Amino acid sequence: MSIKFKKLNNSIIKCKKCPRLIKFSKKISTIKRKQNISEVYWGKPVTGFGDIKAKLMIIGLAPAAHGGTRTGRAFTGDKSGDFLFYCLRKVGISNLPTSKHIKDGLKLNRTYITNILKCVPPNDKPLGIELNNCSNYFDTEIQSLKNLKVIITLGKVAFDNCIKFYKKNFIINKKLIFKHGVKYYLPDGKILIPSYHPSPRNVNTKVINTKKMMSLLIMAKKYSKL
Ligand code: SF4
Repeated sequence: MSIKFKKLNNSIIKCKKCPRLIKFSKKISTIKRKQNISEVYWGKPVTGFGDIKAKLMIIGLAPAAHGGTRTGRAFTGDKSGDFLFYCLRKVGISNLPTSKHIKDGLKLNRTYITNILKCVPPNDKPLGIELNNCSNYFDTEIQSLKNLKVIITLGKVAFDNCIKFYKKNFIINKKLIFKHGVKYYLPDGKILIPSYHPSPRNVNTKVINTKKMMSLLIMAKKYSKL
């Protein structure tokens, strides 16, 4: 890992800019979930992970209460991660079909996974000020991935906040609307592909399924030349 990413990740882990979210993470990590009651929860902000030479970036909303907030890695130890990594393995982006814990040997093929917000918000609903507070970390991540060609956003909040980054830094003339599987050319030459979030609710209601997700990932692989 580069010194830049190490510094960034250290700042994220120590961050206390959003008192409501820090308090909520601590509460979850103290009360815990029945099936994880004997575990020590991570309980701090969760950084992105993967290959810093990534050509593909996958962006979610925030760490899950008993997933990333427990294990310390995004999309790890929760149902969204189970779905996502099953699909990532199927298309050859991940070496494992699961993401269980931080020492499971998971490796990503030229891919970086992160969340817009590094702390879990109550009811998965962040406040505007919290998204603003955290945006500097996301901005640094995206600007530091120099080989990036394709961005997949999981869910509308990730999509909107990715667009916010582009509007801050570039002139965007066209209206970009959240729609699963469409392809947008961004002003810096990257391609943005919005996807439904693989949350248990979206999977159970069949808003997203493995076929839809895999075809989106195959498209992302093709355009990022993975
Ligand atoms: S959400 Fe981001 S800005 Fe807020 S406390 Fe967590 S890491 Fe810091």
